[in-house]
Amino acid sequence: MLPSSPLSTDEPTLLTQVDEALRAPRRLLSFEPGIERRFRDASRRERLKATQLAGVLMSAFMCLFLLADHAMTPDVFTVALWLRLGFVAVVALLTALTFKWNVGRRAPDWQAVGIGLTIVGLNLYLLSLSTSPLRQLVLLGSALVILYLNVILRPRFQLAALATGLMLVALTFTGVSLPEALLDLRLLLPVLAAIFATASCSLYFLYHLEAEERHNYLMSLRHRLLRTRLAGINAKLDQLARLDPLTLLANRRHADEHLGQLWQRAQHDHGHLAVLMMDIDHFKAYNDRHGHPAGDACLRAVAQALKHDLRRAGDLLARYGGEEFIAVLHDVPPDEALKTAERIVQAVRNLNAAHEDSPSQRVTISVGLCNGQIGGGEVSVQDWVAAADQALYDAKRSGRDCVRQATARQGQAAA
Ligand code: GH3
Ligand code: MG
Ligand code: MG
Repeated sequence: MLPSSPLSTDEPTLLTQVDEALRAPRRLLSFEPGIERRFRDASRRERLKATQLAGVLMSAFMCLFLLADHAMTPDVFTVALWLRLGFVAVVALLTALTFKWNVGRRAPDWQAVGIGLTIVGLNLYLLSLSTSPLRQLVLLGSALVILYLNVILRPRFQLAALATGLMLVALTFTGVSLPEALLDLRLLLPVLAAIFATASCSLYFLYHLEAEERHNYLMSLRHRLLRTRLAGINAKLDQLARLDPLTLLANRRHADEHLGQLWQRAQHDHGHLAVLMMDIDHFKAYNDRHGHPAGDACLRAVAQALKHDLRRAGDLLARYGGEEFIAVLHDVPPDEALKTAERIVQAVRNLNAAHEDSPSQRVTISVGLCNGQIGGGEVSVQDWVAAADQALYDAKRSGRDCVRQATARQGQAAA
């Protein structure tokens, strides 16, 4: 599984690009720069690991080449020994450094191609030094190098094709430019044919492997982008489902859930909790006189005033239904809760919104408060809400525009 890089805010554009890339023919084996960068980043770790493995394999290869050197070009064996063992040391060092340093995205590819080209160069150099009659067979060793490059090291196809092309040109050129006395076409042609066949097969394999790898990457990226998008949509939907569209306060659904959580926490910590039920006074009459749209505007203004006064983090303020609001304050001592309730009654008075059918001639609210320390299992959250509701009813009976409190433990209103 490819490691996943974090998805950024360009996600919608990226998704379009991914869809386009999936529709496009994959012949060129390269994506649009943004996706290409991600793709290379995602596969970089695995490629670095492959390079490390290649370093180990390299040592085994060099022993095989030395056997071949001994059999086919014994006259240059000592040079071969030094060069090949020296090369192993360089490759081992390079591999170690690649892992130590934070190398660029293309470094493993260039390293792979560099290794392949150097071994072929080394073979051709040894061949040029030798006068052995079997030396044309040394060319055959390069087929193994091409195979090693394209099947084991697997650099990106375009670079591999370029490097393989270079090797084929160099090998053909060296083969045909051997001194006439040593040029045995019956030997050279099959050798070159074998090398070309190996090169084509390995490149064909590499092409399809990379095409598949890229296709799989696009599919997994698309999957991740869609999942992120879905999570975003779900979060928005959840937010909408908890919002009252008129006042932009939380709605009753959210209030019930949040109240349950606050209740549980307070029960656990034996903390204080205050539930405030608030209701606009004579609101029906307000609507009847000023019309429903003005009633809506009044609801919004009252909601804003409440919001302004109940800003403590973690407290809850919601529209509970109609012209009724609920607030839940946690960790407030009883006298503080009462002061808060009285302050919000005053805040609504201060709006000075004209209400001709109210005795006070302005819009007011009544508040029922139930507060105290939570603990013990004898009182439930519903009891508290019911008690606050009862206290609100008392406030209405007492002439409105005031606060009344309920005794929490009994779950009943007390004037
Ligand atoms: P009280 O002082 O006893 O609370 O009297 P009241 O008139 O406020 O109470 P009542 O329950 O009789 O009337 C509530 C009114 O609130 C009735 C309804 O038209 C109005 N109302 C409820 N929801 C909305 C709303 O979303 N917009 C508007 N404009 N009015 C609403
Ligand atoms: Mg009312
Ligand atoms: Mg009401």
